Amino acid sequence: MPNIILLGPPGAGKGTQAARLVAERGMVQLSTGDMLREAKTSGTEMGRRVAEVMDRGELVTDEIVIGLIEEKLATAGGNGFIFDGFPRTLPQADALGELLARTGQRLDAVIQLVVDDAALISRIEGRAAEALAAGKPVRADDNAAVFADRLRAYYKSTSPLIGYYYALGDLFTVDGLAPIESVAKSIANVLDQAAEASVG
Ligand code: AMP
Repeated sequence: MPNIILLGPPGAGKGTQAARLVAERGMVQLSTGDMLREAKTSGTEMGRRVAEVMDRGELVTDEIVIGLIEEKLATAGGNGFIFDGFPRTLPQADALGELLARTGQRLDAVIQLVVDDAALISRIEGRAAEALAAGKPVRADDNAAVFADRLRAYYKSTSPLIGYYYALGDLFTVDGLAPIESVAKSIANVLDQAAEASVG
């Protein structure tokens, strides 16, 4: 049961690929973004505070997201976890390592989806247009100004995780600009490699 992290800037395709792994392999997707959006609509004080931070494109505190993940790790089971949008900071990465160790689990692979900024911006614009056309709600943080802030938060706080996991020997890179099918295939290859490594 592999546990993996999908790492990459907002709009890199982490959610799309995670959904496929859930459908095809029965893995469990743990998206802190989804959990926070749920908290946002809960009407609680925590939800209200979280909403303000998210709508500005900034990161929610480590304490909140680590708490959310801890809760899910204790209750969810399945064919391995896909961490999607978590960890986003070095303290979150340390916390994840500790949480997994505490439950006798390990991280099998960190898959970095590599994309460039210009492509991301057009993807985000596309995501908003698609939602509008389908009559679905557009994410409040899917607009150009907030997106630029989310991208800055990624470079400042999350991109150091690339070096962190590279140093641990856990990092695999995948071209996130390839068609969805090829990205999925590359991820499948990484999962197979990781499975072989843990057996051999
Ligand atoms: P996402 O759906 O992953 O793009 O997340 C949407 C927003 O939720 C982010 O822009 C942050 O404000 C917040 N968020 C999600 N995951 C985290 C995390 N691991 N740490 C801090 N903030 C997060």
